[in-house]
Amino acid sequence: MNAPVHDPLAAYRIETEPFYRPAGHEVALYRHAYRHRMPLILKGPTGCGKTRFVEHMAWSLGRPLVTLACNEDMTASDLVGRYLLDANGTAWHDGPLTLAVRHGGICYLDEVVEARQDTTVVIHPLTDARRILPLDKKGELVHAHPDFQLVVSYNPGYQSSAKDMKPSTRQRFAALEFDYPDGALEAEIVAHEAGVELELAAKLVAIAHCSRELKHRGLDEGVSTRMLIYAGVLIRDGVSPRDSCDMTMTRALTDDPDMASALQGFVEAQF
Ligand code: ADP
Repeated sequence: MNAPVHDPLAAYRIETEPFYRPAGHEVALYRHAYRHRMPLILKGPTGCGKTRFVEHMAWSLGRPLVTLACNEDMTASDLVGRYLLDANGTAWHDGPLTLAVRHGGICYLDEVVEARQDTTVVIHPLTDARRILPLDKKGELVHAHPDFQLVVSYNPGYQSSAKDMKPSTRQRFAALEFDYPDGALEAEIVAHEAGVELELAAKLVAIAHCSRELKHRGLDEGVSTRMLIYAGVLIRDGVSPRDSCDMTMTRALTDDPDMASALQGFVEAQF
């Protein structure tokens, strides 16, 4: 019998199908992009389904998914790896990006503009025809596995212009635009994810629609699909709808008393 083959990406494999309801033909478009291993940007507001979509695609393509939430403290070593001291001296440890590059995963950098540009510069040579990752500290040039793909997400409405994606970075990617699903679909998603009746989910979605009208008029973002699911989960758990919405939407979204009472008004109109 052959010894089992060690799979360095075993922890990143998605075994069961992630629930995802398409809003358009993004599934087919992703498949085309993946066929050519084209780097992709998923654009859209926070909590609208970008992460769930890439999880679903990785599962359906049978590829492991290495996800990294970017932040400004992240260094290039956090992506590519570093030497660490162990019992036998110092040994190189591949970072998550390097693991995906070497072994053919999909690497998803969530909120990529949150990372400093001296960190994200390491992805440049991966996004052109060379498909290489230089590990400067180790003196190694890793050629990407044929199945490797880079996907990043980005919320264009949210960041300051200082944090916009540099043109030299963004023009290396093809882009898919996401938004909150239309009302009926969003209610179906909330009902499924929170385990609540469709009628209740539809009321929550109606609150979200009102809140989204306040974007750039006092709110940075309206209520997201994720927040609606949180509200639904608390309601299912026996918390009153008003308290649930207060906790998961109003208080979470704003510190401004006028904005908070506007949001409470939307909730009271439904419950
Ligand atoms: P983003 O990555 O855009 O911030 P997520 O993918 O984490 O947002 O979405 C938040 C939650 O909303 C998901 O965990 C999922 O429960 C739900 N969701 C949003 N859109 C969809 C969709 N189209 N199909 C299924 N679930 C969705």
